[in-house]
Amino acid sequence: KGHVRFEGVRFGYGDDREILKGIDLDVAPGSTLAVVGPSGAGKSTLARLLFRFYDVTGGRITIDGQDIAQVTQQSLRAAIGIVPQDTVLFNETIGYNIAYGREGAGTDDIHRAARGAAIADFIATLPERYETRVGERGLKLSGGEKQRVAIARTLLKDPPILILDEATSALDSRTEAEIQTTLEAIERGRTTIVIAHRLSTVVHADQIVVLDAGRVAERGTHTELLRRQ
Ligand code: ADP
Ligand code: ADP
Repeated sequence: KGHVRFEGVRFGYGDDREILKGIDLDVAPGSTLAVVGPSGAGKSTLARLLFRFYDVTGGRITIDGQDIAQVTQQSLRAAIGIVPQDTVLFNETIGYNIAYGREGAGTDDIHRAARGAAIADFIATLPERYETRVGERGLKLSGGEKQRVAIARTLLKDPPILILDEATSALDSRTEAEIQTTLEAIERGRTTIVIAHRLSTVVHADQIVVLDAGRVAERGTHTELLRRQ
């Protein structure tokens, strides 16, 4: 489950410019596809289309053979988890932020997700643990800690499909390496689309697509792409 395909996908934001000019992708269930390429190439736009923030203007996107245009917004959102570049948290408790969107989640589930996101270390040092508030009047989390909260939220949701949109790009290199390890662990068993700036962060991907000006410029494994350079 979680077979994602883009078939001749075209898209523009409504002005004259076409941003995606016929994209074909086939992401096998449980595999990882990395999308790299220069800023403005259309990488984030690809992710937004899969989540149906916008509808394609040509071609189609399917999940397990079903056109996502025919799927309810609700089931689509249940199937896909996103870890964005900059996670914005609510000025609420850490537990609330992890459970956001899963209001029925129990404490055990929240704690398990936090452990999976390797969040427990810094939370364990807090006096009120998950009841500690974050944000303006609360605890100021670092960029890496915020990303771990976003990862815990995704683990709690347990979606078959994962989008990592530059999830480590805003972090310093040491934190990036730490979060990278956690992300590769949560990718296992899920169909994952990783959007990245640099080829070096997606060595583990099953296939890599280089996007340039809305077209697939190259595709292959990390080794294949390096050999061609
Ligand atoms: P990337 O993620 O590769 O940096 P994006 O998908 O964010 O690229 O953007 C691709 C192109 O689409 C860019 O030229 C960008 O300016 C444009 N774009 C992105 N979002 C919007 C939007 N909401 N409205 C109009 N143009 C947009
Ligand atoms: P990213 O690297 O995440 O793609 P961008 O700098 O391309 O970030 O875009 C940041 C936000 O600004 C996006 O959410 C996008 O919707 C919006 N945006 C980008 N380019 C445009 C544009 N030309 N017109 C309107 N909104 C845009």
